[in-house]
Amino acid sequence: MNYHQYYPVDVVNGPGTRCTLFVAGCVHECAGCYNKSTWRLNSGQPFTQALEAQIIADLQDTLIPRQGISLSGGDPLHPQNVPDILRLVKRIRAECPDKDIWVWTGYVLADITPEQQQVVDLINVLVDGKFVQDLKDPALIWRGSSNQVIHRLR
Ligand code: SF4
Repeated sequence: MNYHQYYPVDVVNGPGTRCTLFVAGCVHECAGCYNKSTWRLNSGQPFTQALEAQIIADLQDTLIPRQGISLSGGDPLHPQNVPDILRLVKRIRAECPDKDIWVWTGYVLADITPEQQQVVDLINVLVDGKFVQDLKDPALIWRGSSNQVIHRLR
């Protein structure tokens, strides 16, 4: 998996103070996408074991307590990203059990694959669906268009 940005302290992309990871790779090609540069799987830079360890350490940091982590992109549930995302969320569940995990995807919850479901089973919140420009509403929180749904899973 490649990624574009990692913010160890972020107060914009989800509730509270968080870590945020923007991964590479998205097949949805939404008109008006805010992050077109992330569409290619091989864009950005490799997501390394070192960065994975850094994320765990940041979530465990007690000087700046994080509420959790936001995984966005790109699409964290792109089939080629799922193995690395699954490993990451398993580690967070095991090593940072009090942190919440939010994932943004262009897939719709009802249509996801069994592999993607393994990730969904471990996260707290899934914000799903493509961005639809005609349904764009700046008043919405944590989503860009009204077709997208915030699924609170646990
Ligand atoms: S799902 Fe997100 S990243 Fe992918 S094309 Fe749509 S808006 Fe862009």
